[in-house]
Amino acid sequence: MKPAPFRYHAPKSIEEAVATLAEVAGEDGRVLAGGQSLVPIMAFRLAKPAHLVDINGVAALARLAVEGDKLVIGACVRHAAFHKPVEDGPLGRLLAKVVRHIAHYPIRTRGTFCGSIAHADPASEWCLVAAALGAEMVARSAGGTRTIPAADFFRGIMTTALKEDELLTEVRLPILPADTRCGFYEFNRRAGDFALGMALVAYRVKGGVIAEPRVALGGVEPQPRRIAPAEAALAGRAPGKAAFEAAAAAAAAAVDPLEDAVTSAEYRRDLTGTVTRRALEQANS
Ligand SMILES: Cc1cc2nc3c(=O)[nH]c(=O)nc-3n(C[C@H](O)[C@H](O)[C@H](O)COP(=O)(O)OP(=O)(O)OC[C@H]3O[C@@H](n4cnc5c(N)ncnc54)[C@H](O)[C@@H]3O)c2cc1C
Repeated sequence: MKPAPFRYHAPKSIEEAVATLAEVAGEDGRVLAGGQSLVPIMAFRLAKPAHLVDINGVAALARLAVEGDKLVIGACVRHAAFHKPVEDGPLGRLLAKVVRHIAHYPIRTRGTFCGSIAHADPASEWCLVAAALGAEMVARSAGGTRTIPAADFFRGIMTTALKEDELLTEVRLPILPADTRCGFYEFNRRAGDFALGMALVAYRVKGGVIAEPRVALGGVEPQPRRIAPAEAALAGRAPGKAAFEAAAAAAAAAVDPLEDAVTSAEYRRDLTGTVTRRALEQANS
C-alpha cells in the first residue's frame, strides 16, 4: 500500500520547523526524522498525517557533543553515530554496546536517537537508556523551550509528554563517572528484532560495596523505568551472586508485564529476572 496523500515541508532552521509545526499540528502534522518507524506505519495507513515536517535539512539538529557534564544528542543524530564510542568514558562504551541491538545496519544509518525517544516504543533501547540514566529531553515549540526529565517523559505505549506542536530538539545524557560499571542485556528471538525484555544497570563500588545503583527495564512494561526495589536490593552490598540474585528477584516481583498473542505476562516476568541478573553479571565482569 502507498501512504495517504500529505503535504511535505522542508524547513531549514529550528525556528522555521517549529513555526511550521505550530501551523500544521492541529491537522495531524508530524515531524519526519529518519522515517524508519513513521514511513512503515504510513505505508500501512496506520497513520495518515496530512503534513510531514522533514527536519533533515536543519543543520543545527545534527549536533552531537559533550557539554559540561552532559552528552548532547541533536534530533538528526543517527543511531549509527554510536557504533564507535562518542566519548572516552563508560557512557560512550555503553552506547556503543547498546546500539548493536537496534534493528539492522541500514536502519541504524537512517533512524535517529531522538526519533526513537519521540516514538517511545516500549522495546526501544534508547528509551531504556534515557530512563535508566535520567536523560533530559529538550522540547521546543513556537511558544518556547522546556526540559522534560525522563521520569516524566514516557507515559505509556508510544505515548510521551511531547505536545503535538513540540519538536524534540535534543536529548541530554549525563556523563557517567569513570568508575561506573554498566551492563546491558537484551533477549529477542532473532537478531535485530524488538526486545522481549532487556535490562540496563549501572553502579559504582565504594568501600567494597555497591553505591548509586541503577536498574531499569525495557520491553517488559508499557514504558521503560527504573525499578526501585531492585536498586534497594543492591545498595550497600558487595557486588556478586547473592546481591545480583536478590535484585533479579526483586525486579521480577516489581513489574506488571505486557502480554501479547505469543508472549505471556508470566514469561516476561521470568525473563525480567534473567535479563536483570545477566546485566548485573556483565557489569561486574
Ligand atoms: C525492521 C525494523 C526493525 C527495528 N528494530 C528496532 C529495534 O530493535 N529497536 C528500536 O529501538 N527501534 C527499532 N526500529 C525503529 C527504528 O529504530 C527507528 O529509527 C526509530 O524508532 C524512530 O526513529 P526515526 O528517526 O526513524 O523516526 P521517524 O520514523 O521519522 O519518526 C517516528 C515518530 O517520532 C516522531 N518524531 C521523530 N523525531 C521527532 C522529533 N525530533 N521531535 C518530535 N517528534 C519526532 C515522528 O513524528 C513519528 O511520529 C526498527 C525499525 C524497523 C523498520
